[in-house]
Amino acid sequence: MASGLRETVDCERLAQEGETLDRVYALADLPRLQDLLADPDGTIRARFAFQRTETGRAAATVEIEAAAHLVCQRCLSGFPYTVAARSEVEFASSPGDAATCSEADREPYLMTDGAVRLAELAEEEFLLAAPFAPSCGAPEACGRAPGLGAEEPARASETVRPFGALRDLLKENR
Ligand SMILES: [Zn+2]
Repeated sequence: MASGLRETVDCERLAQEGETLDRVYALADLPRLQDLLADPDGTIRARFAFQRTETGRAAATVEIEAAAHLVCQRCLSGFPYTVAARSEVEFASSPGDAATCSEADREPYLMTDGAVRLAELAEEEFLLAAPFAPSCGAPEACGRAPGLGAEEPARASETVRPFGALRDLLKENR
């Protein structure tokens, strides 16, 4: 469903109708996830439940679930990781508008001409939910990892984070 990636939806209309949309995307099709993924196989299932806030703004509950293979930031090997998350987002038409979002427990999300791309919303939710420095949690395998100085494993684990650094960079440029 390649066309699904470009699907944009009218937030106001969906909020008015209280509509819930279910979508499935291939992880391989979401560009901002690729640095985190050890392999691009798998899908992300997303549910978008649109509603209005108490103050009448368009909002949605976004739920995602994905069985992914992330890159361990210590040993750089892939390991299975299930990303499951749920967020409340409130749609804003401009950065200034986002600053006035009424509810502290809702994440402001910027629309373009009143619309959002659902695939990007799911992608954003994945990025928020994924661990900042993924670790495979396998002490033996991680400890014997190639490329780490065996004499200084603790120090290496703090400094060898090529993908994490890239991710920071991407965040700054957002
Ligand atoms: Zn590891």
